[in-house]
Amino acid sequence: MSPTTRKNLAGQPRLGRAFLILLVTVMFAGLGVALLADGGQARDQWPVHDMARPLPPVVTPGPAGPPVPPPSDAVVLFDGTSLEAWTDAKGRPARWKIDGGSLEVVPKSGGIRTVRGFGDCQLHVEWMAPSPAAGEGQDRGNSGVFLMDLYEVQVLDCYGNRTYADGMTAAVYGQYPPLVNACRPPGEWQTYDIVFHRPRFDKDGQVLAPARMTVFHNGILVHDNDVLTGPTAHKARPPYAMHADRLPISLQDHGHPVRYRAIWLRELE
Ligand code: MG
Repeated sequence: MSPTTRKNLAGQPRLGRAFLILLVTVMFAGLGVALLADGGQARDQWPVHDMARPLPPVVTPGPAGPPVPPPSDAVVLFDGTSLEAWTDAKGRPARWKIDGGSLEVVPKSGGIRTVRGFGDCQLHVEWMAPSPAAGEGQDRGNSGVFLMDLYEVQVLDCYGNRTYADGMTAAVYGQYPPLVNACRPPGEWQTYDIVFHRPRFDKDGQVLAPARMTVFHNGILVHDNDVLTGPTAHKARPPYAMHADRLPISLQDHGHPVRYRAIWLRELE
């Protein structure tokens, strides 16, 4: 066999190998993209409140601490002493009870909302479920933190309490369960740190960018830039409807004496 022939014979398989490596690379890249896309879709493809939707694993957070003080650029919404930043749903003085530095839901008095409106923000909220726990499922320590009065991060006592995954503690209600169940027992203070980006609309009301949320529950990541399907709702996933760039933050009266403290935010716009 001449050296030339050997070179040609060796050259053929080398070309084949290169093609095979390229093919495998492309296939794996494609598979990766497909998996990512599927993962992204899977989080909002479950029917609303589906009891078959898997519950996230339980993670025990570190111990509760004192109220987290607001940073220098924060808008303080509740510092333990005054409800002046809030009204009821009709703009009258809020009627929830301030007691020992915390704010307690007065059942049937209605939700409360901030006097000011807010858009993109970093929101810190501390809350405590009633102890001893009473009721089951959604009927246990239920309240809620609504961004723009439309997009709810669920407040619920899911410490040893089972409900539908997209309605449990720290769920983006009716849309996304938290990544983990990071509940402390009822009667202990818990924290939410929420990074919220409001939806963007064009002048005709078409959605240019949906709302997004990143949430930490007791310091643990539970939503990683989740893209909201629209306003949160019970047994429904309504589409976006054009709204103002700034709307009040509201807290829900769900009939349970849930307590709040240390509520502040940083505006991001
Ligand atoms: Mg609620």
